[in-house]
Amino acid sequence: MSLNQTPRASRYHIAFLGRMNSGKSSLINALADQDVAVVSPVAGTTTDIVHKAMEIHGAGPVVLIDTPGIDDVSLLATARIARTRQAIEKADCAIVVVDATTGEGEPERELYAYLEEKQVPLIVAVNKTDLVDDKLSLSPRSRHSVTNAPYIEVSAKTHRGKEELLRAISTLAAKAEERQGPPLVGDLFDPGDRVILVIPLDAQAPKGRLILPQVQTIRDILDHGGIAIAVGMEQLKQLFSGKNSAPRLVITDSQAFKEVDQIVPPATPLTSFSILFARHKGDFDLLVKGAQALDLLRPGDSALIAEACTHHPIEDDIGTVKIPRLLNAKVGGELNYKWQKGGDYPEDLAFFQAVIHCGGCMLNRKAMCSRLEAAAAAGVSITNYGMTIAACHGILPRALEVFQW
Ligand code: SF4
Repeated sequence: MSLNQTPRASRYHIAFLGRMNSGKSSLINALADQDVAVVSPVAGTTTDIVHKAMEIHGAGPVVLIDTPGIDDVSLLATARIARTRQAIEKADCAIVVVDATTGEGEPERELYAYLEEKQVPLIVAVNKTDLVDDKLSLSPRSRHSVTNAPYIEVSAKTHRGKEELLRAISTLAAKAEERQGPPLVGDLFDPGDRVILVIPLDAQAPKGRLILPQVQTIRDILDHGGIAIAVGMEQLKQLFSGKNSAPRLVITDSQAFKEVDQIVPPATPLTSFSILFARHKGDFDLLVKGAQALDLLRPGDSALIAEACTHHPIEDDIGTVKIPRLLNAKVGGELNYKWQKGGDYPEDLAFFQAVIHCGGCMLNRKAMCSRLEAAAAAGVSITNYGMTIAACHGILPRALEVFQW
């Protein structure tokens, strides 16, 4: 997979924030060396989030996120500001663009405080320095005590400060790399071990291709020197009925958990793609506790089923049919379900007794963690599809054993 094909969720996310007409879009275009974002002297031109995937030397694959102005007071302001907040939820770092001709003020101060609360590291890019006299330039820290973040003087027009800004981004990205979570699966086996991936080719499987969690898991096994063996259900039976030595680990699609559990001998560790993603992208302990808390649900309780992307529900769809059926059987009655799909996520989760989230393969770790933290802050238990299915079939302990949980 070339860098250009790195899935968005695996890229370092950089949100460009600031007032309307501070030059966020122009700065993105200058960094990307092409017209990515809509640029206009008319304030408020960026009305929606714009993403640009690119590579920054030293930072690797990144995605630049253009956002509407934080000082928008138009009729559409509420919706636009909500979108900016969503961008912050998934941002690994933020570039706050300040107009050198107007300087910082209350909007920036509020933004710095919000970013600090959300623990998003930031760089202040003082833009339009081509329009101000050098003596009026805003960079000396003595004139700006509102944040300790690096101040970099830039001009989207002349490209002044561009290299310095790219270097500052690379430094933040390198720090973030050090804080990365565990690999997807590479630490659960030794080089040369065989790892079986069970991929049922049923009605849910897209024609002619694997889905992203499967592709990423295979890639991670290969990156760590393992032998990835992908099988369907029939081949899995053949594999364990012969004289083959046992593989180190079996990873199944969660929807086939029950059947696979019966085929794979108990001595062979078994887990699922979505449980691997739970550990890789989120707070594993929180999600396990959320799965255990499913025991406390009672008929009539409310559960949110959240998916991070939109797709047409198909017959026996996992989110709308299978999981509700399994949960209803587990609690002995009907739960009250609400569904949320795509980039939106409810602000108020306190209404629910449980949140069941998909594996979140389309989200970066930051965005997934923001969703988990929102549930924890509201005092609501949260778990994911794989753990829910394992818990409903009574095989959660087996599915977690490989993680020594
Ligand atoms: S629903 Fe969730 S796990 Fe499934 S493809 Fe979309 S983001 Fe990935």
